[in-house]
Amino acid sequence: MAQHPTQPRIGVSACLLGTPVRFDGGHKNNAYVHSVLARFATLVPVCPEVESGMPVPRESLRLVERGGGGGVALLGNRSGADRSDQLRAWGRGRVEELARLDLDGFILKKDSPSCGLERVRVYPAEGDRPPARTGTGLFAALLRERLPALPLAEEGWLQDAGLRECFLDRVFTRHRMREALLPAPSRSGLVAFHTDHKLLYLAHSPARYRELGRLVAQAAEVPVADAVERYAAKAMAALGERATPGKHANVLQHVLGYFKGVLSAFEKQELLSLVEEYRAGLQVRSVPLTLLVHHLRKHELGGWLSRQRYFDPYPRALGPAAGA
Ligand code: SF4
Repeated sequence: MAQHPTQPRIGVSACLLGTPVRFDGGHKNNAYVHSVLARFATLVPVCPEVESGMPVPRESLRLVERGGGGGVALLGNRSGADRSDQLRAWGRGRVEELARLDLDGFILKKDSPSCGLERVRVYPAEGDRPPARTGTGLFAALLRERLPALPLAEEGWLQDAGLRECFLDRVFTRHRMREALLPAPSRSGLVAFHTDHKLLYLAHSPARYRELGRLVAQAAEVPVADAVERYAAKAMAALGERATPGKHANVLQHVLGYFKGVLSAFEKQELLSLVEEYRAGLQVRSVPLTLLVHHLRKHELGGWLSRQRYFDPYPRALGPAAGA
């Protein structure tokens, strides 16, 4: 199976790396990001509040409704000082810098009025209604608006095997795309890239897998740079859908079809039973997957099948995928 020659580049809320930048002078070190992911990716720390000129320690902040459809404001919890313009003015420049860095993903601190990606508390402008869990931190919103195809995750998602798999599949595929396809877009490069990732797309989204196939088939009808750009966005959307055990089981069954006339009846039945046990939740995916890869090597089924990134979408040390 192919190796990962260079590392992806991932932006990270700086406090998750143990840097003492929080309002109280503390940090929120995330051991997985700091000690595990850091071995396989170049991490780019960003603290929006400190980089936009706020001191450590500082007054804590919160999102408050502006009223009249005016969105949200970033206000000091005690003083009510409005930091929205300060953070947004800095943020617009910073996301341009980050766009030039060609990031492959960004991990954001949850619940933060600057970094939180979703369900951040938004307080009413007046009255004592409880806050609504409907907000996005100001920096996270700028990042999503400027770089809509960039894979984003909150640090808590990395503890969930399914969400982590979704994020890592997107990050490492985007990185491979950035290395192999985007610098010199070509139709042959697009076909080769798509061919190697077919099973990975199929595991996440059968519908988008078919859309991607149509896009590649029609690539000759549009300028190649446009085709590659549309392909890159669609590929990220496909991998953004969760790869469930049912979808994985369908992929494994699909792979089994390529062993026609190669495996004995017993070997085939053994594999089929393991795939069905996995589908029913009685088996982990690594059992049928390992046996499949074993047969793949033993029978020297090279070419298309052996190049599938489905078998190694990212380094194994980053943790098991869902149901693995
Ligand atoms: Fe800085 Fe974001 Fe961490 Fe707050 S959550 S300390 S703004 S990096």
